[in-house]
Parts: sequence; C-alpha cells; structure tokens
Amino acid sequence: MLLIDYFVNLIDYFILSSTQIYHTMNTIEIKENFISKKFICLLFGHKIITTRTITSHIKEYKCTHCDLELTDDVKGHTTFLTAERKEINQALKDFLQKKTHAA
Ligand SMILES: [Zn+2]
Repeated sequence: MLLIDYFVNLIDYFILSSTQIYHTMNTIEIKENFISKKFICLLFGHKIITTRTITSHIKEYKCTHCDLELTDDVKGHTTFLTAERKEINQALKDFLQKKTHAA
C-alpha cells in the first residue's frame, strides 16, 4: 500500500469518528467533553483569541475550544503559555506601566 493511501485512510477514519461524536452528543456535552474538544481542534484547528496584550509584540492567546494557552516570546515565536511565562509577561507589563507613568 502506498503511503498516501495510508494517510487518506487515516483521515477518513478521523472524520468518521468525529461525525459519530457529533451525532451521539448534544452541544452542551461537546462543550464539556475535553477530549472531543481537542478532537475538533485536531480536525479543524484551534480557534485562537487574544486574551491579553503585554506589549505591541507580545500577546497572550487562548483557544476557545480546548483552552490551550499560547504567548509570544521575546524572539517573536509563539509558544505555550506556562505559569513561568505568565509571570514573565506580568512582570514585563508592570515594568512597562511604571515606565509609562514615570514619563
Ligand atoms: Zn484548541
């Protein structure tokens, strides 16, 4: 079997499984079911919204489906928002606010 056929079958399997999830659960259950929410993100991608603006370059983001939290780092890369990074962002925001007030 060709590798491409394998992938097509795999995608078919995922689509079929998600369709079954949709038919057996109502909307509230989908919202409350973390696994199926992750599954929707896996299929359709995350629905990312901006939750906080730290600087013009650094923002915090969240997926409204699976609650995945992301942030920009100083190098401009998007990375997972860990507790440590949350603290760094908060410190940065505080620092910039003080700077603005002093000026
Ligand atoms: Zn998501």
